[in-house]
Amino acid sequence: MEQSFIADRIKRLAESATLAMSQKSSELRAAGVDVINLSVGEPDFPTPDHIKLAAISAVENNFSHYSPVPGYLSLREAIADKLSRENHASFTPAQIVVGTGAKQELSNTIMAVVNPGDEVIIPVPAWVSYVEMVKLAEGTPVLVQAEMSQGFKVTPEQLEAAITPRTRVVLICSPSNPTGAVYTREEIAALVEVLRRHPQVLILSDEIYEHINYTPQGHVSFGEFPEIADRLVIVNGVSKAYAMTGWRIGYMAGPAPVAKAVSKLQGQTTSGTSTIAQKAAEAAYRGAQECVEQMREAFRRRRDLIVGLAREIPGLELDMPSGAFYIFPCIKSYLGKSYTAADGTRRTISTDTEMAMYLLEEAHVATVAGSAFFLPGYIRLSYAAAEEQLTAAMARISDALARLK
Ligand code: PMP
Ligand code: GLU
Repeated sequence: MEQSFIADRIKRLAESATLAMSQKSSELRAAGVDVINLSVGEPDFPTPDHIKLAAISAVENNFSHYSPVPGYLSLREAIADKLSRENHASFTPAQIVVGTGAKQELSNTIMAVVNPGDEVIIPVPAWVSYVEMVKLAEGTPVLVQAEMSQGFKVTPEQLEAAITPRTRVVLICSPSNPTGAVYTREEIAALVEVLRRHPQVLILSDEIYEHINYTPQGHVSFGEFPEIADRLVIVNGVSKAYAMTGWRIGYMAGPAPVAKAVSKLQGQTTSGTSTIAQKAAEAAYRGAQECVEQMREAFRRRRDLIVGLAREIPGLELDMPSGAFYIFPCIKSYLGKSYTAADGTRRTISTDTEMAMYLLEEAHVATVAGSAFFLPGYIRLSYAAAEEQLTAAMARISDALARLK
């Protein structure tokens, strides 16, 4: 087809590197290559049984018609209760919009509040999709670098320096994808103190990894800070906490006019999301929460395993992540080194993207390059995989890196 049919906004859009890498690894697998996929970040556990049963019951009870655009009231009530119980945040169901994953609600919120030219501050490394969502809304992403030396977390001084009269949104993710960094209560309080002085700024807090947090303090939500309650949007969902990535349920909770605007947008684009998945999500929020803890403990064991194995590899530098299910090692000591490819040619690895390709093609382990998260020189590995797979993957990576001269 003629390239000219494609709109400029899509030509400008970068492809999701996480999904692209996962797709590539599926293709290699289909071609018979034994690839270990540590690229895409999603729990490998099955969805807990009581949640599945709620979905089956929804089918049997004919929840087969359109739901309200922002989601069933009973689900939004369950989410409001969850926000109050777990996050000490007060939202009414009218302030909540449920949609097709946290991804859609992040994108809808950005679309609903960002005017062309508005600045959106994004601490990086950050998840691949934020910047593209801002660009789609014709906003200007303002990236603030949080280096490994600062635990991949922005300081209040950096935030203050990045805010201008054009700043409309600050988008923060803790626990972080891709670094696993977790802001402490004191660190969040210090950021809130800066934001308190800039009442034109909306805080968009992506808390999708809230339950995958290994710190003794546990998750600290921006919802705990009344100083900013009137301009806070929390985005969260069931994907990570309840191993429900494919069910596609996420939500935004924010000021009533923002929720209304998001609902208006959703009403003209996708309508209310799947009724069956909504009923399943309601069971997740209303049901027993032991499954969440069990999965977190499994992730913790895997983190300890993969970090231990990664630390045995010479020249690989990494922090112990405090949350999420990723490690984000620095691979700079291997850049500039070469190997002999299968066709006999000598190839040099100069970038993290080339490193991710090398690991895929030569070690058959799928990872994602740090530059996709706006920090070149690193790679991201998801450890949401079985322990044997993690052990095998790290052995393959270790061998492949040792072959670089
Ligand atoms: N935010 C972050 C930081 C993520 O890693 C993800 C997972 N891709 C999402 C949001 C979206 O999650 P979902 O759409 O599955 O709810
Ligand atoms: N959170 C996952 C990741 O970052 C899911 C894939 C995506 O939506 O980007 O790998």
